[in-house]
This record gives sequence, structure tokens and C-alpha cells, in this order.
Amino acid sequence: MEVNVSLGEGFNTKGVKTIQLPATVLDALKLFDREIAKKSIAAKLNGQEVDLNRQLPLTNEIIRLEPILPNTREGLEVIRHSTAHLLAAAVLDLFPGTKLGIGPALMDDPRYGFFYDVIAPRQLTEADLPIIERRMQEMAKRNLPYRREEMEKEKILEIFRQRQEPLKCELIDEKVDKIASVYYIDNSPFIDFCLGPHVPHTGKLRAFKLLAISGAYWKGDSNREQMQRIYGIAFATEEELNAWLKQREEAEKRDHRRLGKELDLFSIHEEYGQGLIFWHPKGGAIRKEMEDYLRSELQKRGYGMVFTPHIAKRQLWQISGHEENYADSLFEPMKMPEKFNEEIEFRIKPMNCPFHIGIYKTRMRSYRELPLRYAELGTVYRAELSGTLHGLMRVRGFTQDDAHIFCTPEQVEDEVGGCVDFAYDVLKTFGFEKFKVELSVRGKNDDKHYLGSDADWEKAEKALANALEKRNIAYERIEGEAAFYGPKIDIKVEDSIGRLWQLSTIQFDFNLPERFQLEYIGEDNKPHRPVMVHRALFGSIERFFGVLIEHYAGAFPFWLAPIQVAVLPITDRINDYAEKITEQLRAHDFRVEANLKSDKIGAKIRDAQMQKIPFMLILGDREKEAELVAVRERKHGDLGQIKLAEFIKILQNLRRSRAIAFEPEKIFSGKGGGSL
Ligand SMILES: [Zn+2]
Ligand SMILES: [Zn+2]
Repeated sequence: MEVNVSLGEGFNTKGVKTIQLPATVLDALKLFDREIAKKSIAAKLNGQEVDLNRQLPLTNEIIRLEPILPNTREGLEVIRHSTAHLLAAAVLDLFPGTKLGIGPALMDDPRYGFFYDVIAPRQLTEADLPIIERRMQEMAKRNLPYRREEMEKEKILEIFRQRQEPLKCELIDEKVDKIASVYYIDNSPFIDFCLGPHVPHTGKLRAFKLLAISGAYWKGDSNREQMQRIYGIAFATEEELNAWLKQREEAEKRDHRRLGKELDLFSIHEEYGQGLIFWHPKGGAIRKEMEDYLRSELQKRGYGMVFTPHIAKRQLWQISGHEENYADSLFEPMKMPEKFNEEIEFRIKPMNCPFHIGIYKTRMRSYRELPLRYAELGTVYRAELSGTLHGLMRVRGFTQDDAHIFCTPEQVEDEVGGCVDFAYDVLKTFGFEKFKVELSVRGKNDDKHYLGSDADWEKAEKALANALEKRNIAYERIEGEAAFYGPKIDIKVEDSIGRLWQLSTIQFDFNLPERFQLEYIGEDNKPHRPVMVHRALFGSIERFFGVLIEHYAGAFPFWLAPIQVAVLPITDRINDYAEKITEQLRAHDFRVEANLKSDKIGAKIRDAQMQKIPFMLILGDREKEAELVAVRERKHGDLGQIKLAEFIKILQNLRRSRAIAFEPEKIFSGKGGGSL
């Protein structure tokens, strides 16, 4: 008995090889390339992810094998998921009788790489983490095999019933039809019901760390069993782990939740509702600058600003398909008070799209009117589990800088191109320099049901790709990541400590124009269906603000800084002069604060420095007599004395150009009253 095997695209070894059965995936990989076989941690067999020690099936067809390497996303996922199992094994070993929940890899969470939910015989604490981690390391050194066994549902249930794991039994009951796989880690108390794949043995796991422990509910349902969630991180190499831990330390220093409190920017209140953001005046000043800039850009680029309600009749969300497709993120409907005798149900809006469609539909449109671009800073509400909420990054109410473009199919490429230019301008204005662009398209053989014809999809995907290529923008094409209703472009930025954030999205839509029966009269005098593009550049204003806080570690560029200038008199004698200067700066529309307390000047400077105020004006008798201001900048220190009028000119320039960095040598040299 023998089978024919080929190695997937992208690997050097071409051709088909024949191998005698029985043989494992690893045996076959070795035939092609011993090095690759050694590096692999799992593989794809005809597209399906499997363990290396999976037996090759007997078949007449050529078996397609693709090694999964540790330095790929898929490989990292296998490593993280396998490490989650190792964690559970160590907990079982240390705390016999522990009940297990689920233990997935986390691939897009910047804070963690995996978790496992457990109910231990006693409450676990932070102090247990190093002990559990040490046990994981011991088990890793022993190269314990991950062993897969396929069995019938009843047998699996029997195993977990015997182990008194009711939650696992519940899961198996729901998920398994007839046959499924369980995994053992040999010579450990661990068994799990799991699809796999995993690394071949625990020795492949050397670069991991446990990070945190928190409360969690079974299935995220607060009426169900309370569990403890242990979080960790894992990488393929020690170097990657250390780099990540270092970045995490740096990220903690700039955590927007801490800075938000210290700099008095925003707050979140348990008693008013988690995930709801209260913008304080200083955060509000930044938001106003963000919005003012955006509004003026929208106007320049031919968008019309619209404003729409926060709630709409429930039927609207049925027509739009939101009830069907986004049921989990909708808040429950609300009713009119009974005494009104009006049987209307409303929903609070999760998206703005249907409202903009409503505006489009107020009259018959002609091709001459298109493209129509409607923009709104629209606040939307989504039901998110409390456990997933995170500062400004994940919330229940947020404002999108949303827009919808209605156009003819021929206009799509230009419109999408315009959105890409706009996105780059916005992101660069806020100080981002490195971008990563993704084009999500249909998968080749995935089983997603895509709306729209093949021809339409090809045209749409091509229009999006062209828009990027014409601008020489490098992008990654991701197959199978498109939404069912159309392809999209995502733009990620790299922040000052190297983290990637997904911000702008440009989404093509075949769906809503169909559902709402949108039309325009074409040149041929016949009705046609317009194309719709959704796009958001900040994405969510709250989240963008969170990213900005962390990117700048709270030290915002001059044009965004909530307080731009601190006026600091050296003694009380100068307070009247300080007030005069403050007034003059305010008259020029700058955000200024005078510190007239009787503190020593050193304390006043420290205070302004703590608040990360870009400029301080230090005023003493000499400045008052000569009618000058002594300028101190938060990064460059003392810059010398200058006339107020000239200082105002410098500030106006900084504001007008929305400069990110301040370069004193360019601005101050040869100017001013002198001691520079
Ligand atoms: Zn598993
Ligand atoms: Zn939309």
C-alpha cells in the first residue's frame, strides 16, 4: 500500500513522491526536506490542519501537504494553543480535582496570547502563577507527547463524566455529532476534548510566561459557573518572548487608562455603566481638535455632513439585516410607554448605514448626482461582554467618523482611491508614519456564502486592488477574510513602540443597496443599482484617542495639547503681568493656564511638566520690565526670552501646520529679544 504526496505551493520541493503506508505526515515531510520537517510543528493535509504524527490516509488522489512553521501566524497559533494545554496540565498536576473550561489561543489581543478557564479546588491567586509556570517548564523539559485519539461521542462523555468534568460534558454534548478527537499529554493528568492540532511534544514549548489571573464565567454568562481565567503569552523563540515582554513593559508605562486619569482626560464609571466614556474638558479639547480637523477635510473633499437619530424602529434593523447578522451585538429593543397605546419598538443604533440610506432614498437620484458622500460623526452602541471591555479600546458606546459613498460601479475605483488618500492624510496628520495595508477578498474554496455574482466580486476586488496599486501602496491580500457582502481595505498603523493598530477601513458593499432597493436613473434613462462604500478613518473616535494617548505617552503635539501654554509667574508680584499675557494668548485662541499659586517656580515647572504642557512662560521682574516672556519647552528646556508677539507667531505656525515635533533651532534662531 502506497500513496502519492505533494508539497504545497511556496515550498521549493516540487513534484510528487510516493510513500509506503503506514506513514505519518512527518515521515512524508522528511521525504521532501529534512530541514523543513525538523522545523515544522504541525501541517496541513489537503488544507486541513493536523498533527505531525497523523497517519496518512489511503487514497488514490495525490495528498497535498503543507508544513506549518513556527514563524507563521498559523504556527504561532499552534504554539499558543498547545501552551494553553500545558498550562491546564500543570494546574491539574498541582491542584487535582480542578475542572477545566476552554483554553484557546489569542492571536489579536495585544495583552495576552492564550488563556485557560479553570475551577480549582481553592481560589487561585497571582502568587500561584510562578508556581504553575515552573511546573509547566518542568513538564516542557520532559518532552511529553501530545497524543490524539478518535472515539465515539458516548465514550468521550464517559471519560469526562468519570473525571467529574460537567462543563466539558456540556461542551461535548453540544459540539460532537458522532465521533471526535480527544488529546492526552502523556504522563500527565491532562485529557482534553479538542480538534487540534498541537505540537508533537511539550519540548517544543520553551518560550512562554503566565501573565495574569481574573474572574470569568462559563460561556461568558453571569448566571453560570464562576471560573478563573489564567492568561499567558507564548512565542516560538526566547528572543521574541523577551522583545514582547519589553514592549509590554513600555506599553504599561503609557497605558491610556492610567494616563487618562493622571492627565484628567476621561473617565469610566461603574455606577453609570461600564464601557461608556465620559470625556473631561481636557480630553474634550483634544476631541474638538480631531473633529474640527476632520470636518474641514470632509468639506474640502466633497462630503456632506449629516446628523441622524440614535434610535430607529425595529423594522429598520430587520430590513438592514442587522437583526439577522449582528444579533449578538445589538441591545434589546425598547418600547414606547404602555399608556401611549403605540405598539412601536425601537432599537438603539449599532451602525449608521441605514440612516444614510434613508437620506439617499428621499428622492429618485440621477447618475448626474453621483457620487453622493454622506459623513457623520455617528455615535453607535454595541452590546459587549463586560469581560471584554478595555478602557477606550473596547467600549459599549462610541462615535465613528463614518461615511457612506453612493456611486456608480464605474466610479468605485476613484472613490476608494479618494478614501485611501484621505486615510493616509488623516493618519499622517496625527503623527503615524508606518502603515500596513490589507486587502480582504473572497477565499478560493471557503464555504462562506458570499452575496453578489462572481463577476461583480471580481470587479470590486480589482477596483480596490487598483486603487492601492496606482498609489504604489504595498498591501497584503488576505483570502477568505472578506465579509459576506464585499471586499475591504484595512489600514493599520505602527505606533511609537512598534505595536500595530487597525484604524481605517474602506468596505465595499453589495448587500445594503439590494436590501433597501436603492436606485438611480442612468444615462440610458433606466433605473440602476448604485454601489455603496462604507468607510471610517479614525474608526472609533474613542479608540483612536486611546491609541493617540499611548502613541504620544500623553505628550500631545502642540495643536492637540489640551493645555498648550502654562504661564508661570516667579512671584506674586508678577501675577498681574501673567494674567495680561494669559489674556492675550487666549485672545488668539490658544489654550492657556496661568498658575498663580504661591508655590516656588520649581514646583510650578514640575507641575506643568507632569501635565505634559508643551510650553511654559516663566515670568519674573526682568520679563515684566522688558515686556518679554522667557520660554521653556517641555522637551528642549529653556529657550530664552522673546517678545510675546513673536512667540504668538511661532505658536500660530505650529498650530496651522499641525506640527508633530517642535524644532527650536529652526524657529528661534536669529529671532526674538536675544539670550538664545
Ligand atoms: Zn487543543
Ligand atoms: Zn456603514
